Amino acid sequence: MEYCSKLFSMLKPFIAANWKMNKTIKETEDFITSFLPMVKDVKDVDIAIAPPFTSLASAGKLLKATSIQLAAQNVFYEEKGAFTGEVSAGMLTDAGCSLVIMGHSERRHLFSESNEAVNKKIRAARKNRLEVILCVGETLREREENKTFEVLESQLSGSLKDIMLEGITIAYEPVWAIGTGKTATPEQANEAHTFIKKWLKKQFGEEAGRTRILYGGSVTPENIESLMEEPEVEGALVGGASLNPESFAKIIFGAKRRKK
Ligand code: PEP
Repeated sequence: MEYCSKLFSMLKPFIAANWKMNKTIKETEDFITSFLPMVKDVKDVDIAIAPPFTSLASAGKLLKATSIQLAAQNVFYEEKGAFTGEVSAGMLTDAGCSLVIMGHSERRHLFSESNEAVNKKIRAARKNRLEVILCVGETLREREENKTFEVLESQLSGSLKDIMLEGITIAYEPVWAIGTGKTATPEQANEAHTFIKKWLKKQFGEEAGRTRILYGGSVTPENIESLMEEPEVEGALVGGASLNPESFAKIIFGAKRRKK
């Protein structure tokens, strides 16, 4: 495939944990304390962990001296003020975050988050030097109606409108594969990633060559290697299987063995 350039295959794998609404502060600290020795020699995979808001500051202290990025699962686009229950990008940086997950399907579907809101959130993150993992993906119905590419294009174009691509990672997360135990086949993942890369290349030119595309949806230690074998899969966003340090470390080691 002509667009699979050498540059892409040289991108370092990136594995990010999305803990969703799981773990107390103590559980977060216990996880990190046992996880760090397991991955201390890993240099060829970038790693991020996204605990819930309440655990960010304590996780930030434990991760400070490491190369593991601390990520938030959401952010609000205003800087401060009367926005009860919201957290700003500046507050995330203050807690030690360098990254934020945006547009997760749970936020899109349970909290009606629009592409326009995601776009504003990305701008706020940018202002505060936060990198972004932007999630996109189709529902089962949309896939069955052959609308996968249409949905991806609309989420990408709406979320990335008038935004530079630098510091943004894309996570392709088919909604039907999230937390269901149904993984997309490596070929299905690769097909969607190829579409996303072509789209990014068309919109952003060479800048797109530095953007990694992660796969998310029931990733486990058992399936990570076959997913990472695909030329356009450069990492994973992991939910359920990232809650246990051994299982998350195994996924990182699986990604490390990538044969590209
Ligand atoms: C996710 O939360 O982004 C996710 C992919 O979850 P799971 O790995 O549990 O499917």
